[in-house]
Amino acid sequence: MASYDIRVIGDPVLRQKARGVNDIDGSLVRLVDDMIETMYEAPGIGLAAPQVGVQKRLFVWDMGEGPRVIVNPEIVESDGEWLYDEGCLSVPGLSWEIIRPKTVHLVGRDLDGNEMSLEVDELEARLFQHEIDHLDGTLLIERLDSDARKTALKAIRDLQLAEVMPVPPSAGPANTRAGQDLRLP
Ligand SMILES: [Zn+2]
Repeated sequence: MASYDIRVIGDPVLRQKARGVNDIDGSLVRLVDDMIETMYEAPGIGLAAPQVGVQKRLFVWDMGEGPRVIVNPEIVESDGEWLYDEGCLSVPGLSWEIIRPKTVHLVGRDLDGNEMSLEVDELEARLFQHEIDHLDGTLLIERLDSDARKTALKAIRDLQLAEVMPVPPSAGPANTRAGQDLRLP
């Protein structure tokens, strides 16, 4: 197994809609193995294929009961509301309180092509909705209202600037202003 680099916000691959999987073959099985390793290394509890730059509709997850995968997943029913402080490996270091449905019914296929049907709630339901969003090119900040999204984008920008351009203790606002030329898409 080998691990991938996880794509982060700003990478266009995270904004594209992934294509359905037609063939479950050896290369897809290897991709899944490598995604599982990447998820554990991160560490995270879920990872969608676009997060490693692969535009296929599948994701892996582990809620503490071992690694699982679903191909061509689809939510067929959802209900209720649940508030959760949600983060994302592709938006590292930050999280936001987001309301989403509390229960979901997810269907799809396993790697043998068998039908899967999962009715889950709370954290696992949250994870499924989050990963399906990735397959549709949607990041969690798009689930915020417009004011909260503006604040979130500023926080992301500030954090990315702090990483690529640490401000020396002696430097003042001039340095901060120069940094604003680095934009998120
Ligand atoms: Zn994510």
